[in-house]
Amino acid sequence: MKCNEISKKEYDKIHRWLRRVYGHAKICEICKGLKGNKRYEYALKREGMYCYDRSSYLTLCRICHLEYDGIKTNILHKLRTIETMEKIHKAKCQPIAQYDRNMNFIKQWRSQTEAAKAIGISKTTLHESLSGQIPTAGGFKWSRI
Ligand SMILES: [Zn+2]
Repeated sequence: MKCNEISKKEYDKIHRWLRRVYGHAKICEICKGLKGNKRYEYALKREGMYCYDRSSYLTLCRICHLEYDGIKTNILHKLRTIETMEKIHKAKCQPIAQYDRNMNFIKQWRSQTEAAKAIGISKTTLHESLSGQIPTAGGFKWSRI
């Protein structure tokens, strides 16, 4: 069961299940109640998945829960940013090969940008040729290396 992303309804259902089977959360596993907030809740562990498995949850006070989720969101956001940057970098630096219409190899280029500039064609046209939407760009055939 893939339960990483769930609806609010399913989320409530799981929380009801946790309370029904394991009772109300009574301690904070992070501050042990020292932060003075007496409202305890089940919190999904950072590495956990939303599912019917008690070991995926911590019991935390409201303050720790918010802090915990805040950090989790920040980490996810950071990871996503790094991922996106890597994708952009990869696309920019991916070498491509230039061929004539008979597929005779002409030249290797370090990137699409470099090739487009040198040949005098737009990056969009080059990209379309690389992805097979159009047969040639600037009178040449192109392929990713
Ligand atoms: Zn706490």
